[in-house]
Amino acid sequence: MHDPSPLNSRTGQELYIEAKRRLPGGTQLVSKRPEQYLPENWPAYFLRAKGCTVWDLDDRSYEDFASNGIGTCLLGYADEVVNAAVADCIVRGSMCTLNAPEEVYLADRLCAIHTWAEQVRYTRTGGEAMAVAVRLARAATARSTIAFCGYHGWSDWYLAANLAESDALNGHLLPGLEPGGVPPVLRGTALPFRYNQIAELEAIVAKHRHDLAAIVMEPMRWEFPTEDFLHRVRALADETGAVLVFDEITAGWRSYFGGIHLKLGVNPDVAVFAKAISNGFPMAAIIGRPAVVEQAQQTFVSSTYWTERIGPVAAIATIERLENVKAVDHIRRSGELVRAGWTAASGKHGVPVKVMGQPALCIFAFDCGEASRTVMTLFTQEMLAHGFLANGGFYPTYAHQPATIDRYLCAVDEVFAFIHGCLESDNVMAALRGPIAHSGFARLT
Ligand code: PMP
Repeated sequence: MHDPSPLNSRTGQELYIEAKRRLPGGTQLVSKRPEQYLPENWPAYFLRAKGCTVWDLDDRSYEDFASNGIGTCLLGYADEVVNAAVADCIVRGSMCTLNAPEEVYLADRLCAIHTWAEQVRYTRTGGEAMAVAVRLARAATARSTIAFCGYHGWSDWYLAANLAESDALNGHLLPGLEPGGVPPVLRGTALPFRYNQIAELEAIVAKHRHDLAAIVMEPMRWEFPTEDFLHRVRALADETGAVLVFDEITAGWRSYFGGIHLKLGVNPDVAVFAKAISNGFPMAAIIGRPAVVEQAQQTFVSSTYWTERIGPVAAIATIERLENVKAVDHIRRSGELVRAGWTAASGKHGVPVKVMGQPALCIFAFDCGEASRTVMTLFTQEMLAHGFLANGGFYPTYAHQPATIDRYLCAVDEVFAFIHGCLESDNVMAALRGPIAHSGFARLT
């Protein structure tokens, strides 16, 4: 049962201290670092996760109103239908000298949903899928320069942007990303533009028209596209012969069945899915027009575990279930409820917040000037004490039922009242039981 003491996760914190000695950085993903949430008091590790409930190492349970596995588990944790398909696959053998037939079935399914695409390649993680997409685009065009917007993973092609100016990636999600180990000769090969700022992309095109291999971006994340933004991006790609790559790793499936570009009405040449297509099991797909995807025959992209069977089995089961249960509608409604709750609590208690994003991927930030990050840390601390994993970002899932959302919003109401009191009496710092959360990712992934 939930223990209301805010300092209730000692075992996880003890293990995390050990981890930092053994595993540089402590975790394998920056956005899973406990310091990003609640330094010294975040549960850090889980024993079990089911639906939207998580049990920490002390077997205390929390409802997850944070990123829900960094946006991976659209159906909720340990979904029974997907798990059953995976369990059966494990029993039948998940790896073999021969190939998994599900690779072909999944490709057919993806191309039936995205009728503009004809061919598919697979990897298992988002960053490597994006690296493959960029390689294929460069191979298809025999050009090098990449214009990009947003975050696309850890690989050299992307970090090369920070060789040009150390803050080139600021505003693209990861301020201060260090490109140590990325060859300086890649300087100038990846050029950033900001979402909805078509003039910035036009300026890149004007200078690199003949060497532009690809325009790489999320069709949408937090911000809605202005009326003609995506159409103008598409036109610039057509005009220059650059490959338009839509990164649907986080946005896909969440607010529209398939890629969000289907909803926005602009087709890319290549779309990349990962995370959300397989409900927490590693799987990624690069789909697209043959002129680009077929380059996989000309440039070497090949990896043993891109052939294992669990990924495509999980993806097929996830896609089928997302469609059957109309997960998109449920997820949108859940996001709408939570957004409305944040706004209501803010108004009721006079705690200023900015609510942003689409319902399926929503965020709020406290608008308290310099104290904003301290206040968010306090919010996380108090919500944890109420039994919720929570910060400013909420990734709704099919497992978030109205009753749980109700309980969450009651807790938000109480915590906002508490925060109001702390702000009034200038006691926010004093109310914190540990250090202020680190910033790092400007965006949560
Ligand atoms: N692109 C986008 C839009 C993402 O949100 C992420 C990760 N959150 C990635 C790429 C990288 O994916 P991964 O963490 O699986 O390497």
